Amino acid sequence: MFAVDLFELPEGSSAVSLWRRTGEESVGCLTYVLVDLADDQDPHVENHAIGAHAGPVLGGISGRYPDGSSWLVLIAAGGDPSATVRRINPMAAVRSLAVDLEQARDYVPTVPDLDAFALVTLLESLGLDRWRCAQALEDGCGFPGREHECAHDGFNDICNAWVSGRLWELLGEE
Ligand SMILES: [Zn+2]
Repeated sequence: MFAVDLFELPEGSSAVSLWRRTGEESVGCLTYVLVDLADDQDPHVENHAIGAHAGPVLGGISGRYPDGSSWLVLIAAGGDPSATVRRINPMAAVRSLAVDLEQARDYVPTVPDLDAFALVTLLESLGLDRWRCAQALEDGCGFPGREHECAHDGFNDICNAWVSGRLWELLGEE
C-alpha cells in the first residue's frame, strides 16, 4: 500500500476508510500529510474537521497501526496544510511529503496527471496493485467483463465493491 511506502508505516498497518472529493481543479503538485492521532481521537471526526479547514484536499485514507492507534493520510492539492492541521489538532503528530508529476510518473508512468495519481494512491491503499488501479481509471470501469452495477468510473466501482465486501470476488483472484 502506497501510504506504507511513502511514510514507512509499520508492517501490519491497514486502511479502514478512504474518501475522495470531486470538483477540484487540476493541480501542479500534491502534498501528502500523515497525521498520527492520539488514542482517544476518532479518525472519522478528525478527517471531517481537518478536511474542512485544510484547504483543497483531494481525498484521504484512514487506517490503523498494528497497535490499534489510528492514522490519516490527507492528499492536498498544492501547498502543505501541516500548519493548519496542527492548529486544528495540536495533539496530532504530522509529517508531510510533496509529490510532483515527474515523481508520480516514476511511480506509475501511465497516470496522465496528478489528480489521477491521487486516485491511484487512494485505491492502492485498499491493497490493490497500483497498475491494476491505474488501468481501472483508464478503462472507466473497475471490473470490465464482470457482472456488477457499473458506476462507469474505475474509482467508484472499486470503492463500491470494497464497501460492499465484494472487492476480492469481483477481482476474481484465481
Ligand atoms: Zn464498472
